Amino acid sequence: MNHPIHITTAIFYCNAAPHVGSAYEALMADCFARHQRRRRGRDRVSFLSGTDEHGDKIRRAALNQGRDPKAFTDELSEVFHQAFVGLNIDFDYWVRTTDPLHEQFVQRMLERTYQRGDIYFRDYEGLYCVDCERFYTEKELLPDNLCPTHNRPVELISEGNYFLRIDKYRERLLDHIRAHPDFIRPERYRNEALNMLAEPLADLCISRPKARMDWGIEVPFDHRYVTYVWYDAFWTYVSRPATASGDIDRYMREVFPHTEHFIGKDILKTHAVYWPPMIFAAGFDQLFSHLNVHGWLNFGGARMSKSSGNVRDPVSYEKAYGPDVLRYFLAREVVYGLDGDFSDERIIERYNADLANDLGNFTSRVLTMAQRYLGGELTRAPDIADPDTDGRLAASCADLNDRVGALVDGLAMNRALEAIWQALDAANKYIAATAPFSLARDPAQLPRVAQILSNALEALRVIADSLEPFMPVTAGRIFDLLEVPAAMAPQPYGHGLRAGHRVKPPVSLFPRIEKPRV
Ligand SMILES: [Zn+2]
Repeated sequence: MNHPIHITTAIFYCNAAPHVGSAYEALMADCFARHQRRRRGRDRVSFLSGTDEHGDKIRRAALNQGRDPKAFTDELSEVFHQAFVGLNIDFDYWVRTTDPLHEQFVQRMLERTYQRGDIYFRDYEGLYCVDCERFYTEKELLPDNLCPTHNRPVELISEGNYFLRIDKYRERLLDHIRAHPDFIRPERYRNEALNMLAEPLADLCISRPKARMDWGIEVPFDHRYVTYVWYDAFWTYVSRPATASGDIDRYMREVFPHTEHFIGKDILKTHAVYWPPMIFAAGFDQLFSHLNVHGWLNFGGARMSKSSGNVRDPVSYEKAYGPDVLRYFLAREVVYGLDGDFSDERIIERYNADLANDLGNFTSRVLTMAQRYLGGELTRAPDIADPDTDGRLAASCADLNDRVGALVDGLAMNRALEAIWQALDAANKYIAATAPFSLARDPAQLPRVAQILSNALEALRVIADSLEPFMPVTAGRIFDLLEVPAAMAPQPYGHGLRAGHRVKPPVSLFPRIEKPRV
């Protein structure tokens, strides 16, 4: 059961700074990775992201600024890296397609595939979109031969190129998808992929003549060509970890099948249709575990993107509202797989209702009472437990970690947070129903008050533990207030805080916000 797991985001196209829409994927993958690390141990989980730096679009963006492409991507890759560090995204690998180790790996894969006979050369005339950096068939284009993505004319280009056999592997891929119903999830994207694979597929042109475009990885068996950016980019998912393992074939057989790819729906086709044949053609038999496809974030009624001109800087949210708030909002508000709406008003509503009121007030309230009535030291008196109120609280916290974990496994991040907030709601109701603040006026009731507060603090501990993959900084602050050591954090409800344990006085975790700060 405790097999290693490898988690990837799509690598980021290095022609502009990251925005909330591009950070969404990395934040959700980070929640997933943190959940897996808790379950499997840090050394069984690897989490990879990086930057996509080759190709004509980037070369031209650099040249437009009068810069060398490598210097240009050095700077932008670092901008992405720093933004993700600022968002507390905890990568194990940050891979750039211009890393020499990656370039050598891609050349090895090209050589292997060529030797196996799945790459061939032919003259080709085709309709090419410079912005997409790909050829289109007439069927795929809009009327008047316009690119369906860029809505601008494609060019007729005639040249000799190398092609990768794709259709050869179509049936094998279809069999795999049919045999593994959640291979591409959520299901709507599986159905889309099955439609894409229903008809014969054209082979993929995987070379570009250097005479036209030289910013890429040289094709090892023909020095007149560099390889197509997509062929290069896919191998980013494995080049570093597979090389580090010391045995690429073994890595692809034993670890790669436990790979979780997180991608946006706009690149479903490349990942569902082209990536698997690339793997088969290089002589590997196993595919990745899941393609986890998410929707788009809309802001002000349009998809957040550089071309829509409505991008928001994710790090500015981290600075304005504090750590964890942006990732909490996105995980809670967006159904993974569907498009979501991003708005500053909604962030503030969620912040005040969920974080300031529910979580922040509960934490502050029980810690305040623990200081006032118990001097910060917990005692227990089991003989006066109330099976009704105490039992309800225990039931709402029992197995919370397991329930949340199963939901995260299935990418239901929003429902995982709902489950945690149901437990929090039960804990708030427990305080209201048992009213320790009233009981405390009668000194004879102090043992019961101590018991109620112990239960409430124990509930807070379990809630903070379940929340950790989504709100790592906040969970750490709550553990600090509760003086909970790492070993105690994952214990089930009732097995954590003991009589004699001391907790700290409260601090304000989430002061209310009145107006947007970004
Ligand atoms: Zn295009």
